[in-house]
Formats: sequence, C-alpha cells, structure tokens
Amino acid sequence: MKAEKLVIIGSGPAGYTAAIYASRAQLKPVLFTGMESGGQLMYTTDLENFPGFPEGVIGPKFMMSLRAQATRFGTEIRDAHVTAVDFSQRPFKLWTHLPAGVGMDIFKQGSQEEIDGAVTKIKADEPDVLADSVIINTGATSIMLGVPGEKEFFGRGVSTCAVCDAAFYKDKNVFVIGGGDSAMEDTLALTKFATKVTVVHRRDSFRASKIMVDRVLKNDKVEVLWNSQLKKIIGEYGVQKIVVEVDGKDQEFKADGVFLAIGHRPVTSLFRGQIELDDHGYIVTRQSLSKKGLVQAQAALNEKDLVAYPTMTSIAGVFAGGDVVDVRYKQAITAAGMGCAAALDAERWLENQE
Ligand code: NAP
Repeated sequence: MKAEKLVIIGSGPAGYTAAIYASRAQLKPVLFTGMESGGQLMYTTDLENFPGFPEGVIGPKFMMSLRAQATRFGTEIRDAHVTAVDFSQRPFKLWTHLPAGVGMDIFKQGSQEEIDGAVTKIKADEPDVLADSVIINTGATSIMLGVPGEKEFFGRGVSTCAVCDAAFYKDKNVFVIGGGDSAMEDTLALTKFATKVTVVHRRDSFRASKIMVDRVLKNDKVEVLWNSQLKKIIGEYGVQKIVVEVDGKDQEFKADGVFLAIGHRPVTSLFRGQIELDDHGYIVTRQSLSKKGLVQAQAALNEKDLVAYPTMTSIAGVFAGGDVVDVRYKQAITAAGMGCAAALDAERWLENQE
C-alpha cells in the first residue's frame, strides 16, 4: 500500500483549514471527518465572532463552506472515523474499521479500558491507511451532565458556549452550572446581556481563580446557589424551567437559558500511549501553553534560537492543532489559525525529509 503524504484527522475549523493549506501546497491530503463531521460548530446556530461575516453565519453552513473550500483545492475527504493509530514507526499506520460486533458508540461512551480492548482487536488486522505525516485536529467535547432535558434543548436554551451565545440572552434570566474558571467567564460574559445570572455550584466554594471569583461575586446581576445540583431542564420549544437540588431539596426555577460549564474533554483517547498528552489529556506540542509544552519547545530550539515546527507533537511527523491542543482559547478562529500553522509545519517537515 502506498503511503499518503499527509493524513488529517478531524473536520472542525482546524482540520479544514489544515486541509485548505495542505492541498494548496500540493500535498494531496486525505482528511478523515470522524463520526461528527464538522465538529462543535455543527451545533451552533449563529456564528457571530468569526471575522469576515458581519451578519454572522449559521454554524453548519460555515462548516460546509470550509469543506467545499478544502475539496476545491484537492483534499480527499473521507467520511469515516479513525479507529486506531500506530505512530511507533514511519510510515504511520491508521485503521478506520471496527471489529465485528463493536459499534462506534464505544468511542463516545466506552471507558478507556473498553476502547483499548477494541483498539487491540483492530490492530490485529492490516492497517487501512499509511501516512508519511499526520495532523491531529480531533477537537474537544464539552462535558455534559446527563440530566433530563439537556440533550433535548441543546441549542434551544441549553448551551456550552457563553462567548458564542450570550448575546441571544438580552434581558433574560439564565443559569450557569459549574464553579471553575469557565463558569466564571461564562457568568461574566452573560452579565453583559442578561437581567440575572444564577450560578449553580455543587459545593460551598468555587475552584476558579480568586480574581475571577471576586469579579463574579461583586456583580449585582449575579446570584449563587451553593451546594446545588441541576436535576432537570423543562420546556416546550425552548427552556422554560429548571429543577435544582439546593441543600438536599428540589426547587423549581424559571429559566430562559442554561449554560453548562463543567469542563471540556479533549478527544484524545485514540492517541493515549502514542504521543505525549498533558495532565488534562490535551496533546502536547511545542506551542502548548503548559509546562510540558515549554519543555518540548526548549528541546526544539534551533541554531537561531527559534522553535522548529512549533505544532509538532512528541512524535516527529505528527502535528496537532485546534481544541485538542488548546487549554485556553477554544475559539473557531484560534482553531483555524492552529490548523493553518500545522499544515505549514507539515509541509516544511516533509520537504526536509526528501
Ligand atoms: P474545571 O476547572 O475542571 O471546573 C469544572 C467545574 O465544574 C468545577 O467547579 C466542578 O465542581 C464542576 N463540575 C464538574 N463536574 C460536575 C458535575 N458532574 N456536576 C456539577 N458540577 C460539576 O473546568 P474549567 O472551568 O472548564 O477550566 C478548565 C481549565 O481551564 C482550568 O485549568 C482553568 O483554570 C482553565 N481556564 C482558565 C480560564 C482563565 O484563566 N480565564 C478560563 C477558562 C478555563 P468542583 O469544583 O466541585 O469540582
């Protein structure tokens, strides 16, 4: 089997931007979309903060445009999920099938042990694809609570992105779930529009940084329900009410919106044991905003004191960008920028191998 020059895994803004750059550089990339083609923006109605769209753009429409743009320059898009990888030697091996009797759900709902079991079986077969280089853009998924109504009203009052959706809650009454920095940031973003923002937190103190907590607690629009857990989201066409257990007792509250901010999980179970991940499961590159990233960057300083291939992971020839790397910004525009950088690095690295 002939190795592809470049395989891109993931079809969010990072993956498609990498594909646009790599295909314009004549690398003939093959892009695997994954199970949820288009990534998180497929769940966003109006994307209003991506430069170049003064009127905003519908999330799925935007992702279809990126896909068309990548195709136009020669990217081969395969609507398939990469189920296993072997980065131990070049060319890298990738698998895209599952063993008999195992469903795709295992990658969304299975434990790491179950996934590892399936991957071992998959790797007993011949690989489906070989690649000289790989760019990983598998993104991240918001952690969900799993309460009734959460899935049903997602995008219709339930959101995981206040930066994206706060403006739709002008003069509304909203709830933020969580007590970390994301919850504090979401709360502050929402206070610019909503009449009232109630933070629902399961303990009696926040884990967020003090400065963020102080800002939240000083804001007149904010109320906090301590020792509280969201139990249920109720509504008809959109969210109308929520049930929260406060100090052990269920209470009903009127609500126009619920923002879940209980953390993000990078989609990296596939790469565990293959490339270096940080303590939160994000892929480490030489531009990661973490201690491990700094160590990799330091080790990659060239004779001009510049970091070589900043988007490279701990494996030479494997690059990464977007939310799967990003512990901090997690925006469509930052993901697209990192996808571009990864493609430029891959192009230069491949040239230097010839
Ligand atoms: P996080 O720090 O892990 O906080 C998650 C919050 O959600 C915690 O308060 C946690 O409660 C709560 N939570 C988790 N599971 C829950 C459940 N099942 N039910 C109810 N509550 C639940 O996540 P994050 O806020 O997304 O932050 C992630 C990282 O990014 C952190 O290192 C953070 O500092 C960083 N970050 C930084 C900034 C900034 O610097 N401006 C902004 C955003 C994120 P407990 O506290 O009880 O565990």
